[in-house]
Amino acid sequence: MTFRQRYTGLIERYRDLLPVHDDTRLISLGEGNTPLIRLNNIPRELGVDVDIYVKYEGLNPTGSFKDRGMTMAVTKAVEAGSRAIICASTGNTSASAAAYAARAGITAFVLIPEGKIAMGKLAQAMVEGAVVIQIAGNFDDGMRLVRQVAENAPVTIVNSINPYRLQGQKTAAFEIVEELGRAPDFHYLPVGNAGNITAHWIGYSEYSSGDGHSVTAACNYCEGHCRFAGAVVGSRPVMVGYQASGAAPFLRGHMVDDPDTVATAIRIGHPQSWNQAWKVREESGGWFDECEDDEILATQKLLAEKEGIFCEPASAISLAGAIRDIKSGKIEPNSSVVCTLTGHGLKDPDTAVKQSTGPMIKIAAELDAVKQAILDNIS
Ligand SMILES: *Cc1c(COP(=O)(O)O)cnc(C)c1O
Repeated sequence: MTFRQRYTGLIERYRDLLPVHDDTRLISLGEGNTPLIRLNNIPRELGVDVDIYVKYEGLNPTGSFKDRGMTMAVTKAVEAGSRAIICASTGNTSASAAAYAARAGITAFVLIPEGKIAMGKLAQAMVEGAVVIQIAGNFDDGMRLVRQVAENAPVTIVNSINPYRLQGQKTAAFEIVEELGRAPDFHYLPVGNAGNITAHWIGYSEYSSGDGHSVTAACNYCEGHCRFAGAVVGSRPVMVGYQASGAAPFLRGHMVDDPDTVATAIRIGHPQSWNQAWKVREESGGWFDECEDDEILATQKLLAEKEGIFCEPASAISLAGAIRDIKSGKIEPNSSVVCTLTGHGLKDPDTAVKQSTGPMIKIAAELDAVKQAILDNIS
């Protein structure tokens, strides 16, 4: 009997495809290796013959895909001798930076927009010991300040302009190709700074060019004995990026100064990976589109109610977009579609509770009352 190696995070797993050395001290919390879940009930109800998968990135250690990039960024910061990291954040980057800094034993400074951060994310940054700096401004203001202060303060920026972030995040594409045996036909992502859509394209491109862990390369994780050995080289998906209508610079064709949306994780008007994302669109033959807040929330609820998967509002826009494009015929039958669910629903309990219409029944603590409540509500 052979035992599978204990999973110790994405850098270890994809070591030969990432910029680390043999003696680099890895700062990891076991991130990556997230489930790719095939939706059952939603496609059936839509009456469509499309394979829809969701990549549940909310199951990373701090509840969002940011951990993929943060393990790399903090590993490299520590390797370079840095004692502190800094980021601007709509919430998830700060939660992740705080956790990896704690793990590494260094300080995290996080700039967040006052009053516009989901409660779960704020709780994480605070309990993980980050220095939380609330600014009377939005993410874009924070980003500008972080760039300026890092020029002469001894801190490493861990926003996605740090190139190691995208290197870590590209591994999500590797996992998808390995799991499906090929790239999907379409990949849908929410777009804020556009770092993640760029990172996925890097990952798919490396894999398809054969640089990746593929048919011939032995899997460094399992030494060639796993179900992944045999992934098809040469395929890349069409990349589709969705933005909230109130924060949609890629749809307007220019930066937006007062971004606003319930999907706080993508409440960004000045995307940092602007040029890269346009290139991804062009090279992949993809497109950008937008959704209103009510459609985002309705899809968050649909996914939770019909499939039991709880993601945060920003994440739901990927599925909202895919459903819309399936209905309009942009996606042909028999296609495979992957939607990235970027963050966990528990990040933003307030928004979830506010929009829940499910029955909340108040009764006396008596058997008859419980029985009656069951009879009244059984379907
Ligand atoms: C950061 C984040 C995004 C946006 O990703 P970008 O790389 O900035 O485009 C989307 N959803 C969630 C939950 C996030 O935390």
